[in-house]
Amino acid sequence: MRLILLGPPGSGKGTQSARLAGRYGVPQIGTGDMLRAAVDAGTGLGRQAKAYIDAGELVPDELVVEIVRQRMAEPDAAAGWLLDGFPRTAEQARRLDEVLEQSAKEIDRAVLIEVPDDEIVRRLGGRRVCAACGAVFHLDWKRPAVQGVCDLCGGRLRQRSDDAEETVRERLRVYREQTAPLARHYEKLSVLVAVDGRGSVNQVFDRIDGVL
Ligand code: AMP
Repeated sequence: MRLILLGPPGSGKGTQSARLAGRYGVPQIGTGDMLRAAVDAGTGLGRQAKAYIDAGELVPDELVVEIVRQRMAEPDAAAGWLLDGFPRTAEQARRLDEVLEQSAKEIDRAVLIEVPDDEIVRRLGGRRVCAACGAVFHLDWKRPAVQGVCDLCGGRLRQRSDDAEETVRERLRVYREQTAPLARHYEKLSVLVAVDGRGSVNQVFDRIDGVL
């Protein structure tokens, strides 16, 4: 199974792709996660990516395409994968098509998760993430038992640097301008399905699972 998850920041791509990866037994390849890990580890890639991420801008195509290509070449990705947050530009989509063509593989589905802007700003403004295990909380509807502390591992909860309201607005602008048009590309390939991303995590998961 080769899947792409498309949708604005805060549409639940990360949450849903983690569950879908488990359901379909394929690795989740999340470019945002990989880039943040590189920033935290202080690698060369992380140093190059940090300023873009903090400003809500896209990291240059070359860097992102390369980490995805390398990750796809790992043995656990041979039978399929789920792309979360990639491609995000026409050039990334073109490069992905090229990689697939070279290996005579095809995308099975591109799932577009649709959520209105106001809801996104609300979701991301209250989002808190565990610095240790990555678990996600929300100040309004998924509060941790102890403020600032992860229920699962006791780690410290923090706000992602790019979840500040102004940066969220910029990420949305970049999404509308550069990423949203990709839906048309996957529509032409007859693999696009759109689902309503509002409601609970379970409701959205069932909708996606239903169309797959
Ligand atoms: P995400 O966790 O998917 O919201 O990504 C967080 C940030 O990482 C984005 O705002 C970009 O700065 C960067 N990023 C993630 N995926 C990509 C991509 N495919 N192309 C360019 N930048 C990306």
